[in-house]
Amino acid sequence: NASTIKTDALIIGAGPCGLFAVFELGLLDIKAHLIDILDKPGGQCAELYPEKPIYDIPGIPMVTGDGLTKGLLEQIKPFGPQFHFGEMVQTIERIGDPLFRVTTDAGKVFECKVVIVAAGGGSFQPKRPPIPGIEAYEAKSVYYAVRQMEQFRGKKLLIAGGGDSALDWTLNLAPIASHLTLLHRRQEFRAAPDSVNKMMALAGEGKIDFVLGQVSSLEGADGQVSKAIVKRNDGSNFEIACDAILPFFGLTMKLGPVADWGLKLNDDLIEVETASFESSEKGIFAIGDINTYPGKLKLILCGFHEGALAAQKIHRYVYPDKKLTFQYTTSSTSLQKKLGVA
Ligand code: FAD
Repeated sequence: NASTIKTDALIIGAGPCGLFAVFELGLLDIKAHLIDILDKPGGQCAELYPEKPIYDIPGIPMVTGDGLTKGLLEQIKPFGPQFHFGEMVQTIERIGDPLFRVTTDAGKVFECKVVIVAAGGGSFQPKRPPIPGIEAYEAKSVYYAVRQMEQFRGKKLLIAGGGDSALDWTLNLAPIASHLTLLHRRQEFRAAPDSVNKMMALAGEGKIDFVLGQVSSLEGADGQVSKAIVKRNDGSNFEIACDAILPFFGLTMKLGPVADWGLKLNDDLIEVETASFESSEKGIFAIGDINTYPGKLKLILCGFHEGALAAQKIHRYVYPDKKLTFQYTTSSTSLQKKLGVA
């Protein structure tokens, strides 16, 4: 199949451990693609604590989640990793020894010599608001992410939430929608103050509606919503007519499809041996928070080490005829050439 993407290593998860694995693989001439459900790199560091300081990255006394992600991206740039964001890996099928076919929920197909599962705490998935029967509308007129803005052109939109996603999409979709309402439980927001100010300005100009309350039920047919019944904080109700609803109530982590890949698990974690962090399946490795072994610590620095050791074994699969000689980046001109510094 011509559209199949071929690569040496496929990394599932672009959290800190997946990102650093690109570096260790790159030094050994192993090319990598990364897939992540999020629309950005950094995993938990980017999604859960971008502004919090981390104090236990070796040699860096203090760095924020966002800062660490940026530093890792800079460090792996020479190796040209290819990212596939907003996609969830669904299936892994063995087609060789080792050779794998991997598919995503966006319909992409990859063929790779090895798989590195760096899936952290599992898939980030949107929190579903507690509205009875909402499942029937999901993916038909209720969406937890915006893949294509054009889909919402000329529609009556209801966006719910008070964080950055809710505010950013309110600002981006306001010019496209025929009518847009932002609904939030309270007056205070968890979003960037600049976005809140811009949203308030649009509301002031009458370009959008900003209302306080919570959706208590939906009306519609065949998955197509027609109105939301909203409860005000004083208990009274009113209706908002809408063609689509976008609830943004944050993300939670669930193991997700990792459970279906035939790997030996222990308490929802992938069992690995500690010489190379290979799983029970030859050619499938697991690093970072998703793996388990005696003494495992869920620390970023441990995931970095795991990636370095995994790369050594992966070299044997990708280059079965080549001998690997151990080298330091400080003194090896060959490594420095790969890094673009020699
Ligand atoms: P993650 O960062 O969890 O990234 C995994 C990625 O895989 C996610 O982006 C997810 O979307 C993606 N994914 C999962 N399944 C799939 C799939 N099927 N398809 C596609 N993508 C998938 N650690 C420290 O060392 N020091 C600290 O000070 C520290 N502070 C922390 C503070 C907080 C508040 C939290 C929550 C964690 C902290 N940690 C800290 C832990 C640290 O963040 C984790 O150890 C680290 O993020 C693990 O990295 P990872 O790359 O293994 O996975």
